[in-house]
Amino acid sequence: MPKAFFIDTSRCTACRGCQIACKEWHGNKAVPTRQRGTHQNPPDLTPFNYKLVRFAEHVIDGRVQWLFFPDQCRHCINPPCKDVADSYLEGAVVQDEATGAVIYTDKTKELSIDQARDVRDACPYNIPRRDEDTGLVRKCDMCIDRVQAGMKPACVHTCCTGTMNFGERDAMLDLAHKTLAKVKEKNPKAQLLDEDDINVIYLVTEPRKLYHEYAERREQKGGPMTRQAFLAMLARPVGRMRG
Ligand code: SF4
Ligand code: SF4
Ligand code: SF4
Repeated sequence: MPKAFFIDTSRCTACRGCQIACKEWHGNKAVPTRQRGTHQNPPDLTPFNYKLVRFAEHVIDGRVQWLFFPDQCRHCINPPCKDVADSYLEGAVVQDEATGAVIYTDKTKELSIDQARDVRDACPYNIPRRDEDTGLVRKCDMCIDRVQAGMKPACVHTCCTGTMNFGERDAMLDLAHKTLAKVKEKNPKAQLLDEDDINVIYLVTEPRKLYHEYAERREQKGGPMTRQAFLAMLARPVGRMRG
């Protein structure tokens, strides 16, 4: 039975506990950063930050409002990043049958810089990042080691507001729809994002583009990748394909 996350952003306080827990569990190193006039820090996902609480500030209905979005890999049901990676190198990106987790393996370091960029470009949510030092392409792994041991992902375990939830996909969909119905009573703009295609289901209360650029699924470069786009990619010159 596939697993899923339900992330109710209407409850998020942007404490960033999930971001820290993710980094700690994976032993990811600190990344130099700087103050840019926003509480979002670091400014973007990195090979060592699989989770990033994004901040956006807007005037909505005459009031300044902060929108928080704990961003991470969506563990797509049919991951376009895997389609592209498979076309270059089998086994660089794998999907765990039991959970649906999309995992980037150590083989990703055998991808060329161009190939790694193609994998990132295929992602509708702009998630994977390449570590320039090792060549590894890295992102959220659903804390597969914890999940296989019967534990919740570190980010979910840490979140004390009820924003982050994790479990069987059917149960998460049920929770998402029940929560949406309640939230809609106060905020008719509330919606679930791409629930049929991904295993990380977000509830947002404002139009998704207000949260950040890639809360909106990127159709042009990515997915779900059409057969036509996939064949076009395979038709590239051999030199490019092999990097
Ligand atoms: S731990 Fe929960 S409340 Fe805190 S930033 Fe993460 S999702 Fe939001
Ligand atoms: S969100 Fe992006 S990186 Fe994650 S599985 Fe989907 S395509 Fe791959
Ligand atoms: S599931 Fe694990 S790897 Fe993914 S964002 Fe949460 S803590 Fe990080």
